[in-house]
Amino acid sequence: MIPFNKPYLTGKEMHYMYQAVYSGKISGNGVYTQKCQKYFQNRYGIKKALLTTSCTDALEMCALLIDIKPGDEVIVPSYTFVSTALAFARQGAKIVFADSREDHPGMDEKTLEELITPRTKAIVPVHYAGIACDMDKVMALAKRYNLIVVEDAAQAIEANYKGRPLGSIGHLAAFSFHETKNVISGEGGLLAINDDRFIDRSEIIWEKGTNRAEFFRGEVNKYEWIDTGSSFLPSEITAAFLWAQLENLEDIQAKRKAIWNTYHSKLQSWANHNDIKQPQIPSYAGNNAHMYYLCFESLLQRQRVIEQLKDLDIQAVSHYLSLHDSKYYRSKNYEIDRTFPMSDRYTDCLLRLPLYYELSKEDQQRIIEALKSIRLQPVSSNGMDKKVTADSNA
Ligand SMILES: *Cc1c(COP(=O)(O)O)cnc(C)c1O
Repeated sequence: MIPFNKPYLTGKEMHYMYQAVYSGKISGNGVYTQKCQKYFQNRYGIKKALLTTSCTDALEMCALLIDIKPGDEVIVPSYTFVSTALAFARQGAKIVFADSREDHPGMDEKTLEELITPRTKAIVPVHYAGIACDMDKVMALAKRYNLIVVEDAAQAIEANYKGRPLGSIGHLAAFSFHETKNVISGEGGLLAINDDRFIDRSEIIWEKGTNRAEFFRGEVNKYEWIDTGSSFLPSEITAAFLWAQLENLEDIQAKRKAIWNTYHSKLQSWANHNDIKQPQIPSYAGNNAHMYYLCFESLLQRQRVIEQLKDLDIQAVSHYLSLHDSKYYRSKNYEIDRTFPMSDRYTDCLLRLPLYYELSKEDQQRIIEALKSIRLQPVSSNGMDKKVTADSNA
């Protein structure tokens, strides 16, 4: 089976983890943590970077930093991972969903202004597949209405907006190093702080509400409980693993981009001919090859493709279920008088193809040939769709 994802090891991970273990400092905020944080600060021009145990945690830190309280509203795309909304919902925010763009699963910036109310506190753009949201538009709205922008840059390492690194534009941003992302540490994340107002408090929230980080720098002679927080920092073992990945970042990216470009060019005429949508990259967005996806014409068509690829030993997968339609959100009984046709469409029709460092040229060619060989059923009428289902079950 060609898997959808395979975590890539650069070869140095165990070595650095061994060093971390035998250095005698295994808990967080040691040498490797600081190496990783400095790396991101320098490379992306982030004012302060803090490693976290996940992107979810980094988003939760954002919710604490911006003082989300019950009654506040936070604008989030419906087509995203649970954490984007959950981090704010658990502090009591009402989540207000934005629909996706027609040409791209990211939030439709045109619709944002009408979602803003006097209770709106923040906008959380998600750079889906590492493809930037139109950040000039988002930041201009935030300025006009005095809102905080938290970039969910979980998928956006090495991607850019008009040449500016994603994660360095919003007031705050969160990255992920989950094993499904470009650069990994098993579980792991990073909080990026680009607005001075949040710098001092961030370190306190990160260290269980204490000024322990200051204490270890010798700036105070005892540390104590001074704010809210949690244990958001990863151990040095995780940071050491991440460091081995960061040392190979450019190699990882070059390989992923080559795979992405091969899919894009070799599937082009087939996709055009069959009305299957390939990713569209807006001119302002620099692609980081996080994901290669296709958008089919219907749920049924996509499901048949998944099944047929599986029969050919290829694992291709769907992605998010729109959050506006989730069990948890519906249980809140918010009155929503809007629909989310684009988010629903990506929920039903989007398919992700295998993309990982060790995907061989031969295996990728096999995936491309397999896709082209699939008999795509007409999707024009429900009657036909039903007949197709019956056929396939026979
Ligand atoms: C992966 C992902 C997350 C969650 O990241 P974790 O590190 O697993 O917590 C959040 N948002 C988006 C858009 C993601 O892709």
